[in-house]
Amino acid sequence: MIVLPEKVQRIIGTLQQDGYEAYAVGGCVRDSLLGRKPDDWDITTSARPEQVKALFRRTVDTGIKHGTVTVMFGAEGFEVTTYRIDGDYEDGRHPKEVAFTPDLKEDLRRRDFTINAMAYNDQGLVDLFDGQGDMERKLIRAVGEAQERFTEDALRILRAVRFSAQLDYAIEAHTKEAIVSLKDRLQLISAERIRVELQKLLLSDHPEKLNELYELGITGIVLREYDRLTEEERREAVLALQRSEKSVVIRLAVLLHFCKNCRPVLQRLKYDNATIRAVSILTEHVDDKIDLTPEGVRRFSVLTGPDLMPAMILFKRALGQDPEETDRLEKEYREMLKRADCISMKDLAVTGNDLILKMHMKPGKELGECLQFLFDRVLADPSLNDKEKLLALLQEKRESVS
Ligand code: ATP
Ligand code: MG
Repeated sequence: MIVLPEKVQRIIGTLQQDGYEAYAVGGCVRDSLLGRKPDDWDITTSARPEQVKALFRRTVDTGIKHGTVTVMFGAEGFEVTTYRIDGDYEDGRHPKEVAFTPDLKEDLRRRDFTINAMAYNDQGLVDLFDGQGDMERKLIRAVGEAQERFTEDALRILRAVRFSAQLDYAIEAHTKEAIVSLKDRLQLISAERIRVELQKLLLSDHPEKLNELYELGITGIVLREYDRLTEEERREAVLALQRSEKSVVIRLAVLLHFCKNCRPVLQRLKYDNATIRAVSILTEHVDDKIDLTPEGVRRFSVLTGPDLMPAMILFKRALGQDPEETDRLEKEYREMLKRADCISMKDLAVTGNDLILKMHMKPGKELGECLQFLFDRVLADPSLNDKEKLLALLQEKRESVS
């Protein structure tokens, strides 16, 4: 059963009233039939972009050259795309050239897999390639000739495995054969598009399909570090991924813990700096021996940055490290938060300015070292984090040196 959200019905209805055809299409139809909640609703229509724009008050030209206009309802936007036939894909997000067509069938034919090539409106389901049958058989099957479809756009190779991981479907034999023979074409695809699909696979219910990527020879192209693992390591890696929380940073950390040397991989996949930083810190420190005392946990938090501690704890659990130790780490970490211990230089009760005003120090290296000295003392004993006490401590140290 497909229930179109009211706004989607309104858009489709408005287009139909003006004599155009319009359907919900692709992922939203697939997910509805599977009883999953669609992320977004895409609409396909016989109306040209200008005609779509003329019918709705607020629209955004998201990809007008490719026929896509976003119709806005309040803060919510719906992509409405004109029926089209795609030319060759280049390495960008969109095909090099597109031609509009008045025929829904042509539009469905350009789509990648049968389960993604269904359209639906108030008149019912349009399923020209037996997407429903493939759902029953739990198969990812290319629309039309698989060889041709992967030649047009090699990203579909990775998408096939990604959908198979999200839905736990097998890849149909012909489709699989075409994947194996054309996988090298993935070299033509931009890192950004590859990242999107790899990440969806990694975050899916079946991250163990990573080993199918390996067996199909695809990691050899998009994640060659994975191919250096032994069979045993590959088994352990996907087990850890299955145990892991569905968070980008944690699942990447798990993967790269096994692949080692993670920074170049993430840079190659054009991850943002915040992700690269978080994953690098997690993988760098996950095997550190932690002194599970309040002081030890404070010092470890300073090393990772306190905001990464929850991820670190989940990461350790995913890797199957000693659960008792991780429990203790978590407990100490929570108590540390509750006590609001000072674990950052910026929470120190004295500032550089205090040292300049009260201790007549000058800005510079020595001042930095003094703050570091005080911070270190506070990490050992948080009760020292008091302006008077810290200034006295510093006075004492300076006297003992001179
Ligand atoms: P998700 O739930 O991950 O968004 P989706 O199927 O909606 O999955 P999108 O990338 O949002 O995937 O694309 C929407 C639709 O556009 C697909 O269902 C498919 O019909 C078509 N499509 C997307 N990418 C391609 C492609 N590379 N080749 C052919 N058709 C594609
Ligand atoms: Mg989608």
